[in-house]
This record gives sequence, C-alpha cells and structure tokens, in this order.
Amino acid sequence: IRVNFSTIVKDTGFINGYIAVLHDVTDQERIDNERKEFVANVSHELRTPLTSMRSYLEALQEGAWEDEELAPKFLGVTREETDRMIRLVEDLLQLSRMDNEAEELTKEIVDFNMFLNRIIDRFEMTHKDEVEFVRNIPDTAIFTEIAMDKVGQVLDNVISNAIKYSSSENKKVEFHVKQNRLYNRMTVQIKDNGLGIPVSKVDRIFERFYRVDKGRARKMGGTGLGLAISKEIIEAHDGKIWANSVENKGTTIFINLPCETLEGDVWDV
Ligand code: ADP
Repeated sequence: IRVNFSTIVKDTGFINGYIAVLHDVTDQERIDNERKEFVANVSHELRTPLTSMRSYLEALQEGAWEDEELAPKFLGVTREETDRMIRLVEDLLQLSRMDNEAEELTKEIVDFNMFLNRIIDRFEMTHKDEVEFVRNIPDTAIFTEIAMDKVGQVLDNVISNAIKYSSSENKKVEFHVKQNRLYNRMTVQIKDNGLGIPVSKVDRIFERFYRVDKGRARKMGGTGLGLAISKEIIEAHDGKIWANSVENKGTTIFINLPCETLEGDVWDV
C-alpha cells in the first residue's frame, strides 16, 4: 500500500488538517516488477550467447580461421550459440502468443494411454542404452480432449528434463497413469531418480527462466522456459501441473487433466 499525505492549509497559513490517500499498489507493482525482471532476464539470456559468439568470431578474424584445428571448433561453438538463441526466441514467441491468447488450441479426443505410450516408445528408441523406462499405464483407454502437439510438447519437455537432470548411472523414468472417474479427471506422474530439487525451490521451477542450478542448466542447452510453457499449455487445457521432489533422490512431475467418462462407466471403478 502506498500512502500519499497532503496538508490542508488555510488562507491564514495555518495547517487545518491532513488528507491521507491510500493506494493499493501491490498488484500493479507486482506486475510491473515481474515485467521488468522478465525483460532483464531476456536481455541477459541473449547477451550471454552473443558475447561468447563475438569473442570466437574475433579470434577467427584475427587468424584462427587459418588454423585447421581451431577453426572448426570455434565455428562449432558459434553454431551452438546460434541454435540456442533460436530456441530461446522461439520459446519467447510461443509464450507471447499464449499470453495474448492468440493461439487457438486444436483439440481432438484421444486415448491418452496410447498417446503417452507412443511418446515413451520414441524416447526408448533414442535412449535405450542409457535409461530404463517403467510403464504403469492401464491397458484400457482413457479418453481426453487435447491439442496433441501441445501436450506432446509438455511430455517431451518433462521426460527430457527427467533424463537431463539425472546422474549418469542407472537412470530410470517411471510413468503412472490413474483415472478418477467420479471427477472425470486423470493424472499422469513422471518420476525420475535424478538430482532432485531442494524443497524450497521446487514450486519455482515453473517460473520463467528459473533454474535451480544456472550453470548446469545452461550447459545442458535449455532455455529455462520449458516448464513455464508447459504450465501455460496445461492450464489452457483446464489442467494442473506440479512437482514433488527429494534432493538427491528424484523428482516427480504430476499432470492432472480432464477426461471423458463413457456412459455407464462411472460405477465400474
Ligand atoms: P531448462 O531449459 O533449464 O531445463 P525448464 O523450464 O525445463 O528449463 O526447467 C527449469 C528448471 O527446473 C531446470 O533448470 C532444473 O533446475 C529444474 N528441473 C526441471 N526438471 C527437473 C528434474 N526432473 N529434476 C531436477 N531438476 C529439474
């Protein structure tokens, strides 16, 4: 709350009284601060790869281009930094489209279990030697109305994080899907046995640009926007996403979504 004081002064010069005006500025100020912080974050995130690229380009210009060993290395780094900036700008554009509600979701009714199984199959193909995938997914269908590309993006992001933020040995990612027929909701849990997140920080991972370990996350090539985008997408589906974590034990991401209940289906729980 901001308080403005004014004095009431009579013609004679004597103070006759005071007026105090109370402004509730908390909401507006919070939004302003968030916006300022966001712009500062974006600038910083873009400046880091740009300054790194400039030094590599300078080195190339000053002669490294003639060095058969160094030149490809330096070009490789500038290429990586460019890719990172492209990812960042794409993520920012997606967030801004969602903020302006400019993006219509094209939803379809799908069997969530089949949909999830296909996504896990894809990860299994590429990470077979590195990660054990455990599926606790019912055989029966759970029908849900979703924009498949968007929810697919969320699952991709959560599963990639589960793999990324794990120690290198015995990586395991578990999936549990449960339906609550009475409330027409379903929950998917994606559990890893990785680094975990300190309790005080776990809710913040859905904030834009929040990273538990900045250096590590950046090295992994992430933009720090993946979970913020995931949250927007899930909320646009009338869903919820949250996390539970124990440091050095692992993290579980929960996604709760509406689902369809077929007629006569309610009682066979
Ligand atoms: P990033 O591009 O940094 O991965 P995200 O929005 O996807 O951005 O995640 C934000 C941060 O949350 C990560 O930097 C990491 O610190 C933390 N995080 C996300 N998923 C996990 C996980 N499964 N285990 C541990 N930390 C995680």
